[in-house]
Amino acid sequence: MNTSRLPSLFVSHGSPMMALEDSPTASFLDQLGESLPRPRAVLVASAHFMAASPTVTATPAPETIHDFGGFPKPLYEIQYPAHGAPALAGEVVRHLADAGFEPRLDDHTGIDHGTWVPMRRMYPQADIPVVALSVDPARTAEWHYRLGRALAPLREEGVLVIGSGGYSHNLRELDWQHADSPMYPWVQAFTDALSGKLLAGDIDGALDWQSLPEARRNHPTTEHLYPLYVALGAGGVDARATRLHHAVQMGGMAMDAFAFDQAA
Ligand code: ZN
Repeated sequence: MNTSRLPSLFVSHGSPMMALEDSPTASFLDQLGESLPRPRAVLVASAHFMAASPTVTATPAPETIHDFGGFPKPLYEIQYPAHGAPALAGEVVRHLADAGFEPRLDDHTGIDHGTWVPMRRMYPQADIPVVALSVDPARTAEWHYRLGRALAPLREEGVLVIGSGGYSHNLRELDWQHADSPMYPWVQAFTDALSGKLLAGDIDGALDWQSLPEARRNHPTTEHLYPLYVALGAGGVDARATRLHHAVQMGGMAMDAFAFDQAA
């Protein structure tokens, strides 16, 4: 994957404990940054940044937000001091407005753990500026796909577009006592079906995720799924998917990651 043009990425960020604990997904993310051309900035659409209008952070020095409860104290002490990129944020807003969205610039919001946990694994030096983009769980997969499509030109300018969510995300049905539990059949059924659509280049089939087996059991809410469609859209017209990582935690939390790019 050493072309000069960056792919767009979808990553599953899992539990915030991935910031502290090693796992196959943590090891995957540790090498992911180095496997790509170095971006000039990263734009992350995170499951944990939700707004009704597409909101883009132009915060010069974004705060590390510890937006979770009940975890060990060292997790709350982690800082990820990457700079923001206000000029890029302005460019993102222009692209979105040109595509018919009504985006909003936000000059104070920091970065949530859906952004900083993977970024810290991928770019531990915190030396690449980061801009966050909101998702809206009340909208559709197709809306998020179009949002991503408007951002595809940024990849030609050295911007790495990442959707950070979860390939399956039903916290009520995890095996919390056993990180290594095998994948539940209902997770396998959904994720295999969705991966089949993505890997076959069947974008309409992937957008119609609610028709896939066990869809709502895997995503009782949509915020962890929709970043996938931002990444898919940012891959450009007829984007091809490559599965970069395949794993599950606690039986029910699929941790898959994908790259999207147009065929060469
Ligand atoms: Zn999350």
